[in-house]
Amino acid sequence: MRALVIGGAGYIGSHVVLALCDRNIEVTVFDNLSTGKRENLDERAHFTRGDILLQTDLERVFQAGKFDIVFHFAALKAPEESMLLPGKYARNNITGSLSILDAMDKYNVRNIVFSSSCAVYGESRYIPIDEKHPLKPINYYGYTKLVIEENLSWYARLGKINYAALRYFNAAGYDLDGRIRGREQNPTNLLPIIMETANGERPSMEVFGTDYETEDGSCIRDYIHVNDLAEAHFQAMQYIMGGQKTLITNLATGKGYSVLEVIESAAKITGRAIAYHRADRREGDPAVVVAGTDRALETLGWQAKYSDIDTILKSMWKVYKH
Ligand code: UDP
Repeated sequence: MRALVIGGAGYIGSHVVLALCDRNIEVTVFDNLSTGKRENLDERAHFTRGDILLQTDLERVFQAGKFDIVFHFAALKAPEESMLLPGKYARNNITGSLSILDAMDKYNVRNIVFSSSCAVYGESRYIPIDEKHPLKPINYYGYTKLVIEENLSWYARLGKINYAALRYFNAAGYDLDGRIRGREQNPTNLLPIIMETANGERPSMEVFGTDYETEDGSCIRDYIHVNDLAEAHFQAMQYIMGGQKTLITNLATGKGYSVLEVIESAAKITGRAIAYHRADRREGDPAVVVAGTDRALETLGWQAKYSDIDTILKSMWKVYKH
């Protein structure tokens, strides 16, 4: 079995590469290293540097290997930035993905596992958010993911591909065996920011909004460990290649933690004081985002194993501790 992992030097991609190599799948990583890191590359995987926006790069990699499946992680992912620079997100996320589909078609690669996001749902109309929830993204980033999902659905309908669209909730944590150590630069997500505050790289952090209608007033999110995500990708591959053809599913735990709860747990795990101040709400942040997880269990038999918040934080502290 040969897999092409596009964006395989990045945060989630590199964890999936480990899971695939652990199962003796022959992996080629294709990455432009714009945010991905060489140090995240597993030596069992082949690496080819290239950009999904350059047709010559894509042709080169597809020509070189006869792939059974593509895993596609190469995307920009900051919702706030996407509202300021939609063109950048359109090019990288939408045009880039369509180019991949084009290359797959040309080189007869029939299977793709795509990184989607809970951002496709937008404001939650009800909790937990299951896959039947309306799809109304409230930021351009979420819109790009939805457009790609729609294209995947069309390509499948036209008989060109089998696909899995995996809607991640809040991905967090680092490989439990400590094999991935590349840190994201200038993170905007909560957990890396907490870690950088705990290790002293930031003097303090902000809690965006403490007047939400939640128990402690801060936002609640559903955090999922990357090792759990990686396992789900392997199972999704087996599912779509084993005759089921398509899968759209949430990947999450179904359990939420508030921002203040996470900070409190992190203070315990790290043994450091985490200075924070209460700030205004961040635009576009829903109060509660918690997933329905039945479909992943019913289709893949998958559920999170490593995603309690302490396990997530401990695995991150190993990487961030000075
Ligand atoms: N958050 C925060 N301070 C930060 C970064 C994030 O209070 O420095 C909050 C954010 O408002 C949200 C939660 O933490 O309620 C998770 O944010 P993140 O950006 O990690 O993921 P999102 O749920 O927005 O995709």
